[in-house]
Amino acid sequence: MIPVPVRDDLQALEGYHSPQVSVSVRLNTNESPEPPPAAWRDAFAAELSRVEWHRYPDRAATELRTAIAALHGVAPEQVFAANGSNEVLQTLLLTYGGHGRRVVTFEPTYQLHGHIARITGTGVVEAERAADFTLDRAEVRRAIATADPIITFLCSPNNPTGMVEPQEAVREVLDLAPALVVVDEAYGQFAPWSALDLVDDDRPLVVTRTYSKTWSMAANRLGYLVGPSWLVAELDKVVLPYHLDAAKQVAGRLALGFADEMEARVKAVVAERERVGAALAGLPVHVWPSGANFILFRPLDRDGHDVWTALLERDVLVRDCSSWPRLGGCLRVTIGTRAEDDAFLAALTEVLG
Ligand code: PMP
Repeated sequence: MIPVPVRDDLQALEGYHSPQVSVSVRLNTNESPEPPPAAWRDAFAAELSRVEWHRYPDRAATELRTAIAALHGVAPEQVFAANGSNEVLQTLLLTYGGHGRRVVTFEPTYQLHGHIARITGTGVVEAERAADFTLDRAEVRRAIATADPIITFLCSPNNPTGMVEPQEAVREVLDLAPALVVVDEAYGQFAPWSALDLVDDDRPLVVTRTYSKTWSMAANRLGYLVGPSWLVAELDKVVLPYHLDAAKQVAGRLALGFADEMEARVKAVVAERERVGAALAGLPVHVWPSGANFILFRPLDRDGHDVWTALLERDVLVRDCSSWPRLGGCLRVTIGTRAEDDAFLAALTEVLG
């Protein structure tokens, strides 16, 4: 049988790969090192037993949106939630992207911004960051002026570099961008400032967040954005009806009742990040400053992929970015528990001799 051809513009598309290997020390996908609090599990189980399973869930996810809005001091109409922040991004692109429209990304950055844009038929203009991976203001001006993007993507802290965009850089992009600016804050809680404070109904800015990192709920697939209510109303028209199942709505709402526990975890991860960063500084690697729950580094005298393989042989899995464009030789390590980080540092020290 001849396979049915996919859309012309998808024929060269590569899938998004992130190996799921069974190892003792898994530090490759920037999850939380700790599961959610036991009290959250109990509360979740109790509420699950009361779900009316024969009925569709609340289509507007009213209680969840209200709880998220309260967390950030905004109106529920300014919150849109979906199955992971990836689906939030996809819904944005389905609504505002499409043929004849373009987005701008500043590379290297989160691969899914360009990937999802392409899937929705949106043109992607990849602008370059400076050699140290900061935003190059002249390039920002040039790219926005020539691409006339419907969406300008920022990511702060940026994945995979870990670097936080300075507030004045985000404000400058907001001034220059002709349409929507999306600040992806999947790692926002680990950083010293958030663009959430800039969200306003009079400004075409959205900030996306996820439950996958801070809230220890990557298995649950839940993310959201905070943005102008007129934008949220448009997304609500595009997203599939009942896209958020009842269990997920309960899980997300209950998690917000554990904000203090989560804040303590964020503090612990940040302290651990500083410890791992200091240890890496003593090894023959280049390290980028991180405001996230991971660190990008490049072995100085060794092939990055060889180091990745040697770590895997020692039962430690990190992210191999060594063949990614602009990231030659780089590896990215997620901050884990103290024991996991010690295992990583010991393995890396041994590998680097
Ligand atoms: N944005 C960034 C920058 C990420 O790194 C990730 C996760 N890798 C996501 C969004 C997607 O997160 P999720 O779909 O799990 O909410």
